[in-house]
Amino acid sequence: MTDTYLSWCERRDGPNWKQGYTGIPTRTLGNIKGEVKHSAEGSYAALLAALNHATRQASWHFSISKSGHVAQHYPLESVCWHAGDMAANIKYVGIEHEGVAGEPLTTAQVLATVHLSLDIRKFAGITAHPSRHINLWEHNWISATACPSNRIPWALIINKIITEEHKVEEDEEMSVLVRATGEREVYAFNGSQFEHIPGGAFAKAVYGIGWPNDVINVSDKSDPLHPHGDAKLPVYYPRGH
Ligand SMILES: [Zn+2]
Repeated sequence: MTDTYLSWCERRDGPNWKQGYTGIPTRTLGNIKGEVKHSAEGSYAALLAALNHATRQASWHFSISKSGHVAQHYPLESVCWHAGDMAANIKYVGIEHEGVAGEPLTTAQVLATVHLSLDIRKFAGITAHPSRHINLWEHNWISATACPSNRIPWALIINKIITEEHKVEEDEEMSVLVRATGEREVYAFNGSQFEHIPGGAFAKAVYGIGWPNDVINVSDKSDPLHPHGDAKLPVYYPRGH
């Protein structure tokens, strides 16, 4: 099974024991049906402290600071403990937002949480309309809590998801050139199949949303839609668009 980490997020692992249930240690990307957005009710540092707390049984996949920095604590396939409900934890990705009740998400947080929603939908293969109570959840819609304290601007977020997904459809042909450095085997996905790229050679690769503009990871040909290798390959412009 793959461990899917988003290349644009800082990897900051949470404690290994804070995941899964008896008989349900993990899940596939296809098991993911959406996400739960949370309010940290505290600072980013407090979030990390809670995650790393030795006995507190709480965990989640992503933490978003007010500046829009995103840390990923577990792969998407992990079953984390954030929704106060086992069935929900098995199905959903947990996202924490720094800040407290009365503080709207910052613009950077909105952009980051939309970026996560887009990637979660892409990796999980969720093609249904982005909808509250179906694939987009607040913690308090699942279990008794004030979280996320009315801090999530859903209309704005859903609008941005729809706009971006529409843009991607229009940009299906967008591609970049990658160059194999020779440090490891490189396979470039050209939109229909993988091609092996010999060291030093250039290849056109499909440009995926959520991939940083200056780095593209194309090291795992077995999983073309979920590149998660750690090979950092130089990317050359212009895009063939
Ligand atoms: Zn919560």
